[in-house]
Amino acid sequence: MSSERSNWIVLKFGGSSVSSPENWQKIASEVQKRQNEGYKVCLVHSALSGISNTLEEIVEHPSDNNLFPKVERIKEQHLELGQKLGVAAKELLAEDFEELEHIVKGIELIGEASYRVQARLLAMGELMATKLGAAYLNQKLDTAEWVDARNHIKTVVRKNATERSRIISAVSTTDYDATVADALDKAGPVVVTQGFIGSDSEDKTVILGRGGSDVSAAYFAAKIGAERLEIWTDVPGMFSANPHAVPSARLLNHLSYEEAQEIATNGAHVLHPRSIMPARKHGIPIHVRCTLKPELTGTVISSEGSDDEAIVKAIAVRDDVILVSMESLGMWQEVGFLADAFEVFKHYGLSIDLVSTSQSNVTVSLDPGLNEHFQDIREEFVEDLGNFCKVEVIESVSAVSLLGRRIRTILHQLGSAFEVFQEHQVYLVSQAANDLNFTFVVEGEQADRLVRQLHEQVILQSGKQHSFGPTWSQLMKEEDEVEENGEPWWGKKREQLLKVMKDNGSSYVYDIDTVKRYAGLIQNLDAVSFGLYAMKANANDDILKTFESLGFGFECVSIGEVRKIFDLFPDMDPKKILFTPNFAPRSEYEEGLKLGVNVTLDNIYPLQKWPKLFKGEELFLRIDPGHGGGHHEHVKTGGVQSKFGIPRFELDELKELVKDHEISVKGLHAHIGSGIKDPQSWKDTAVILHNVAEQLGGVEILDLGGGFGIQENETQANLDIGEVDKSLQKFKEAHPQYDLWVEPGRFLVATAGVLLSKVTQLKGKGEMQYVGIETGMNSFIRPALYGARHTIVNLSKLDHPSNQTVNIVGPICESGDKLGIDRLFPNSEEGDVILIANAGAYGKVMSSNYNLRQPADEKVIR
Ligand code: ASP
Ligand code: MG
Repeated sequence: MSSERSNWIVLKFGGSSVSSPENWQKIASEVQKRQNEGYKVCLVHSALSGISNTLEEIVEHPSDNNLFPKVERIKEQHLELGQKLGVAAKELLAEDFEELEHIVKGIELIGEASYRVQARLLAMGELMATKLGAAYLNQKLDTAEWVDARNHIKTVVRKNATERSRIISAVSTTDYDATVADALDKAGPVVVTQGFIGSDSEDKTVILGRGGSDVSAAYFAAKIGAERLEIWTDVPGMFSANPHAVPSARLLNHLSYEEAQEIATNGAHVLHPRSIMPARKHGIPIHVRCTLKPELTGTVISSEGSDDEAIVKAIAVRDDVILVSMESLGMWQEVGFLADAFEVFKHYGLSIDLVSTSQSNVTVSLDPGLNEHFQDIREEFVEDLGNFCKVEVIESVSAVSLLGRRIRTILHQLGSAFEVFQEHQVYLVSQAANDLNFTFVVEGEQADRLVRQLHEQVILQSGKQHSFGPTWSQLMKEEDEVEENGEPWWGKKREQLLKVMKDNGSSYVYDIDTVKRYAGLIQNLDAVSFGLYAMKANANDDILKTFESLGFGFECVSIGEVRKIFDLFPDMDPKKILFTPNFAPRSEYEEGLKLGVNVTLDNIYPLQKWPKLFKGEELFLRIDPGHGGGHHEHVKTGGVQSKFGIPRFELDELKELVKDHEISVKGLHAHIGSGIKDPQSWKDTAVILHNVAEQLGGVEILDLGGGFGIQENETQANLDIGEVDKSLQKFKEAHPQYDLWVEPGRFLVATAGVLLSKVTQLKGKGEMQYVGIETGMNSFIRPALYGARHTIVNLSKLDHPSNQTVNIVGPICESGDKLGIDRLFPNSEEGDVILIANAGAYGKVMSSNYNLRQPADEKVIR
């Protein structure tokens, strides 16, 4: 359609974008820029922020007696913005204000609003706002023509359309329309018009559905054959997950129309799903941009460069989904069952979204957006459908979707991601025939957590990092914030680190200042009375001394660790040591008791088989809290799968043993895992331990474990430690009888350590560049063992531009000896110092002599 292509660009700004004078300056300058580039600009915008909602409240509660205060507030908001923009709003909007009052008076009088009246009223928001916008731009740019969208967005009637949908969520055509194009050409070069509104064949006002301004902009773009459609909003593009729920969500720089459609339809609220098709039909690229940050390029949606690579690009979630499960009554194989059943859905106007079938069951989901009337017809519907099958309605579930391309071909790679479903009931799984979408329906409460886990495992650990842009938190950070908090310690101490490497081979370097900083975070937890350092994370002498001097206790998992603490600190109070062995031989317990440390049992076996040893002792017990928060089956699963802890189903037996052997249970202990970013997790553990404590009696201490998550690389989110404290304080208020302990390891030391090593050789194998360094998995096994992704930089060339993607590999004779894959890197040379960040935990302690290569040594700086 390039012959119809004009030099128009359509810019659409949403409500929050048009509600402040600062934003209007930005809008003016964007319009100016487009003009300077030789384009004509069609500016489509929404009502001021909150206005559409207030107008909707008026039509929804017409008999409220506060209709007029609402009208006054609406008027004030426009006058105020007008004043700030320096336009004479009172005169400009006099007629609109009058009309607004008339309509509301009518509604008040009749006590209800017909669809026609609703449309008239809701349209006022956009009509008033655009008058202010046009007047402002006229002042700033000397040219801006206000255009009534209702003259150009003529709507058409869909087959079977209800009255409501014809008037309240109307549709227009998406063909090029010479009449509209000519009209705008005459009005141009800058026109300002309304989103959201149009008119029908009787020239009466209709609206395009809530959020419809995006759709208006797409209609205009199609009708005038624009070169580009720009959607300006309050987020800097489309993301790999909802950034408000997942701050480590990554910007999607480029999407095909199909991908964007899938993401918009499945719950991202950045772009109205109906705004994509009109652009796609004419090949008009859509740019999604952020009014607050016009310097960012956002997301570009087009047909270009949409290669065929299989990839998951986003995880989306839709809440409040309703499932209808239909169980066979033996008539399953009968011809026409589905037709009969679906006829009932049709009869009640229910739109089906996902379908999954098995031998005896068909389950479908209803999209909440399209089935608002479900509750009204529910009973009759279930009765009618019940003639064909056994019906169950399941509510409050959420649909979590993996969205991308050719997902079928990479399902096998998602193996570890699917482990998250061990804990969650999955009601329905559906794979779209177009292979762009794989959806799970799970309990609503679980959805957010599940999205975060899937995002972490599928997006952040994907080998295709080049498909993703920066994280939301990086993009939205203010510049000065980046400088103050953003630079890691090793950036500030770069010279010191390079000096260490002048006379040394590969080295772990620990920064004691950073250790202290993290120790402070734990000591600042008001609800926690005692912190123990889980020394298995890093048993370096200087680090242990640092914690000792700060008053930390130590959590030791072997008698060797216990001995080491007494070697270093002969005067140590043994009660500051918590000894938590697992499947250890009898002799270790014996020695632990003799040394007087707190001994923890995590199995009833020792009590059953070695009762004499423990008779009359004071002990800690490690409880397996199970997963998923306390359902019986879950506890069992947890008990079966993890080798740690006493499962709660053994509690009765445990009680007997404790009584028989006169044991006093001083403390309970639980540790549910590591790398936890959910701040509620420790409080959840406390609640579970409290329940067990009530049954055992006499418990003074609850040790809530460690597992405090850290940011391993620039794409991950941080744990909100303040929130952890808040939730624990609430618990403490309710249960002041306990002392709360925590025992972090990784959290305290990971960030403080880096692994430094020099470049040995470079290699280019076609597309793939390799940077070799002096040490590998023998020093640092986390990437090979857990697929851990650590930030890696060339410390010698920190300021050089990253211009290639490389794999960073070690010298070990194993193809798994890769420290980093797919990393953006500068040109590197032999002898450059490479830094692997956040290597302070489970680095040196897990290193080996494999290949008879000495692992990296340890150094300490301050
Ligand atoms: N003002 C309308 C609404 O809030 C349309 C839009 O903003 O897109 O739904
Ligand atoms: Mg919107």
